[in-house]
Amino acid sequence: MPSAGTLRLPGRLHFGFGVRAQLPALVAGRRVLAVVDPFLKGTPFFAETVGALDDVRVFDDVTPELPVDSLEAALVDGDTPEVIVGIGGGSALDAAKLIALLSTHDGPLSRYYGENLVPGPCRPVIALPTTAGTGSEVTPVAVVADPARAVKVGISSPFLVPSVALVDPELTLGAPPSVTAFSGIDALVHAVESYTARQFDLDWTQPVPVFTGRNALAESPAVQAARQLTRWLPTAVAEPGNRRARHEVAHGALLAGIAFGSTGTHLCHALQYPIGALTGTPHGLGTGLLLPYVIRAISQDRAIAARLTDLFEGDPVSFAAELNRAIGVPATLAAIGLDAEQLPRIAELALASRRLIAIAPVEPSHGLLLDILERAHAGDLT
Ligand code: NAD
Repeated sequence: MPSAGTLRLPGRLHFGFGVRAQLPALVAGRRVLAVVDPFLKGTPFFAETVGALDDVRVFDDVTPELPVDSLEAALVDGDTPEVIVGIGGGSALDAAKLIALLSTHDGPLSRYYGENLVPGPCRPVIALPTTAGTGSEVTPVAVVADPARAVKVGISSPFLVPSVALVDPELTLGAPPSVTAFSGIDALVHAVESYTARQFDLDWTQPVPVFTGRNALAESPAVQAARQLTRWLPTAVAEPGNRRARHEVAHGALLAGIAFGSTGTHLCHALQYPIGALTGTPHGLGTGLLLPYVIRAISQDRAIAARLTDLFEGDPVSFAAELNRAIGVPATLAAIGLDAEQLPRIAELALASRRLIAIAPVEPSHGLLLDILERAHAGDLT
């Protein structure tokens, strides 16, 4: 058990059915830019949330997986918002965080790629997730796709943590099974990677890295998140209107975001970035597909194998594979169209994600990453 910890969280965080009703009072008297997931238009939630605000401009041109060029259009000369409200999946919330950054500090965004490069506080963001999920409503990171880069790239800074998060499971009730499955399994990957992160001895006289590795304050949220997600995600996928399941999964995803937002994530994420760029598949489909294979690889370390039993009932590898099967996450990289010849290059690109690779609990050599990829390609979990 680590002896020290770090959490950086929104100044205010509300969770539960109905908490979205807090929004008008939170922004009263301020000029709002609402960054809204396109799915929201035409739903009753649009009128209830955005329609209830007095002074609001709406930006709804949010593209899944967030191409970087799509963000600058949100800002209009002479109409600077005082607060940004993000409502949507992880893509919309990341968009809101990055638009807040661009509306406060000079662009282009590429100057902030990496860790701790945002020079100071950004305009406040109020985040309302509609997927459960990425945890973006509580995390210090936002991820974009930049055509100049082979893989998606992150901007990580404590200044990107939203000021307020309103996590209302009601907003997830209409999400279709695939969105529920891919965002929900991504949340489970957050919990697993947070709980199995490498542990560092931090020098507290120095600036604290954005992602600290395993830390004492993230342990309980990660365990609780994994238990709720493994228990309830299949029900939320199979029965989209099941309020209990939506509540449990939204709670689990929030706790997983709280955990990984301080510890960081590792191998599923490092491998998914190049895979996502090559296949155009959703983020959570990729991280979820890789999960059993990464669990298998890191379980070679006996201490990690023991920790994984805190998160799963029975054998963690089989449990994760069976969960994927139950919720419709493909079992192999071949099934999402990758050729075996592409795997060595994917391993190389993954190794270049130093922020993620550094958090891995086992030595992340090219050989190890290639072995994970080859097994994931062939469906070999032996
Ligand atoms: P998403 O935001 O890309 O949304 C997927 C699709 O679901 C979109 O078409 C969206 O319009 C739709 N949708 C969203 N909510 C819905 C609802 N309630 N009902 C019906 N449709 C709905 O998916 P996501 O999984 O939430 O987010 C993935 C993105 O988040 C990726 O870009 C990933 O890189 C990023 N991410 C960010 C963090 C972070 O901490 N910042 C963590 C993990 C992932």
